[in-house]
Order: sequence, then C-alpha cells, then structure tokens
Amino acid sequence: MSIAAGLTATKATLDIAKALMDRLNTPNVDVHDVRMKVQEMPIHVVNAQIALGEVQSAVHAAEDDNRQLRRELETLKDSRAVADSLVFADEVYLRRKKDGSFDGPFCPACRDIDGKLVRLKLGGKGQYGGCPDQTPCRKYDCITHKISYFIPESKFNNVRVL
Ligand SMILES: [Zn+2]
Repeated sequence: MSIAAGLTATKATLDIAKALMDRLNTPNVDVHDVRMKVQEMPIHVVNAQIALGEVQSAVHAAEDDNRQLRRELETLKDSRAVADSLVFADEVYLRRKKDGSFDGPFCPACRDIDGKLVRLKLGGKGQYGGCPDQTPCRKYDCITHKISYFIPESKFNNVRVL
C-alpha cells in the first residue's frame, strides 16, 4: 500500500457514494444493486485505513531517522569544533579557547591513535631527566597510555592547568 493506494481507495468510495445517490434519485430504484454497492464501500474504506497506517509507520520511521541523523550531525559538529581548536605544541595538544588563551595539555597519543581528547595529568614540576635543555619543566602523564611528557615551564605562561 502507498499514499496512491489510499487516495485510490478513498476516490473509489466517493465514486460509489455518488453512483448510489444517482441511483436513489431514479424512479425505479434497484434495491439489490444499491445493496451491492453499499457492501463494496467498506472494502475501499479498509484499504484506505491500511494505506494510511502504512504511511504513518513510514513517517514515524523517517522521523526516527531524522532525529538520529541530527544527533550524528551535532556529534560531528562538536568533533569538528574540537579538531579546529586544537594546536599541536611541541609534544602535546593545546586547545585554543574563545578568549584566545589555551587549555590543556592533551595527550597526542590518545588524540592521534584513539581519536579522544584526554587531558594530561600534572605529575610534578622540576628538573627531570626528560626535560629538554636541562630546564625546569612540568611532567604530564597520560593515565591511559602510561606516557610522560616533559614540557618546559616557559611554554605554559597562559595555559590553564588543572
Ligand atoms: Zn594518551
């Protein structure tokens, strides 16, 4: 069934009703003929109901698909906004905020391998063996990958660190 089938069924019903009125307005009404036509009408009405029910189901399915696609689109927009805001700074990712300052740092392995934005945990400050140029730096750890990153203190003048 389809919308066309439903329209055809309702037209058939209306055509029968018109034919019945014409016959009822004739002097010698054939009661048997009128009865046969009246019995035919519910068949077309049922066909119209079935067609409308199927169309309603199709509309609901399309609405569900539409909602799902909108959710996916929002997720993609969010992912795109995150990707557009990321800056790779030496060894880690920083996220540029609307006010121009940076947030982070975030693990490059989590981002590049797993596609996730994972904030690195500050493990300490000081002179570590992994510090470049033997300068004081911050040690950041990825709790997922068990990787440590050593970033010179001077890199974080306007970076918010939690
Ligand atoms: Zn990681």
